[in-house]
Amino acid sequence: MKLSQRIQDITGGGSGGWDLYFRARALKEAGAPIIELTVGEHDIRTSADILDAMHEAARSGHTGYAAIPGTRDLREAVAARITAQSGVPTTARNVTITPGGQSALFASHNAMLDAGDTGLFIDPYYATYPGTIRAVGGIPQTVPAEAARGFQPRGADIDTAAKATHAKSLLINSPNNPTGAVYTADTLQEIARATIDNDMWLISDEVYDSQIWEGAHISPRALPDMAQRTLVVGSMSKSHAMTGSRVGWVCGPEDVIDYLITLSTHTTYGVPGYIQDAATFALGQGASVEEQVAAPFRRRRLLTRDLLAKQNVVHAAPIQGAMYVMLDIRATGMSGEDFGNALLDGEQIAVMPGESFGAAAAGHIRVAMTVDDDVFVDAMTRLIGFAATLATGETA
Ligand code: PMP
Repeated sequence: MKLSQRIQDITGGGSGGWDLYFRARALKEAGAPIIELTVGEHDIRTSADILDAMHEAARSGHTGYAAIPGTRDLREAVAARITAQSGVPTTARNVTITPGGQSALFASHNAMLDAGDTGLFIDPYYATYPGTIRAVGGIPQTVPAEAARGFQPRGADIDTAAKATHAKSLLINSPNNPTGAVYTADTLQEIARATIDNDMWLISDEVYDSQIWEGAHISPRALPDMAQRTLVVGSMSKSHAMTGSRVGWVCGPEDVIDYLITLSTHTTYGVPGYIQDAATFALGQGASVEEQVAAPFRRRRLLTRDLLAKQNVVHAAPIQGAMYVMLDIRATGMSGEDFGNALLDGEQIAVMPGESFGAAAAGHIRVAMTVDDDVFVDAMTRLIGFAATLATGETA
């Protein structure tokens, strides 16, 4: 039986850059003491009080079909967070709840792209982006953000790609996975100008908005004339260590949100009520909880900077936000992929090759700061030493 071409083409062929990750996982399962600095998963679990709220909600009966758009309480709590953070007056009608940010990205592109339309996104990129665009029948097209510019994209490059492809949407992500860049006010103004000039929708993935180490988080929805063409994707995954709960949202114009609710009716049928109640409870605890969840990454970023300052082989892109460090290992003469494989074999440390996130990250590796401080410092020290031996041609 023949499957649709669309579903066969989602990954675009190949592994989507996960080869090294799967090799590390297999080694670990076979008993090797691999330190995994690969995926964006906290080393803490969802807090006990959030789990208590979830338990209580389930025990008191919120286990049936839940409100498909999201419960009124959760939509209001999300709208209040967005209003407070961005300054844009936002109501529950501007918000719909989705099973995580990933589902929100899929829903947003579904609303913006017809089959055969081009969706732009910035390279380096979160690994699912091109597949998400293909999954709705769109054509993914990258816009490079150069390492030399701290991975800040340029408006002129967006213009070029938009004009060449008649793109309908642009997807951005700040704070950025994988680069750790936080887009500056200038970058965001250029992005806004380019989306207006080329009459595109903007999808702003802000799932790391609670993890800002330098600069400020600016939502492009707050820029002049942008609210009517911007969909903001958010999630409880990173801000509250709730990756497994699968709760996120899309925020945008009311009429677009109404269509996304119809889409949910015909796809996910909503998010479990007890999970929505737990998310409402978590948001009700305010920003200080989000700061606590982000604190380990803030600490490890400083530890990384101290270690890197003592040598001149491995260079970091500005570590401005999110739970990752993007390291330039070109002084070793290796690609990110070859370095990552050699590091796994030589030091039993697993990182993600930059090439997994697009051509603009070639010669880099992404390190997730997601292990205990002592283990992290040990791994980073060994990683830097390993790079130094490769750069000078010495054997380890
Ligand atoms: N966007 C980015 C940039 C991410 O890194 C992730 C998860 N790693 C997501 C979206 C999706 O997260 P979730 O579905 O857990 O909300």
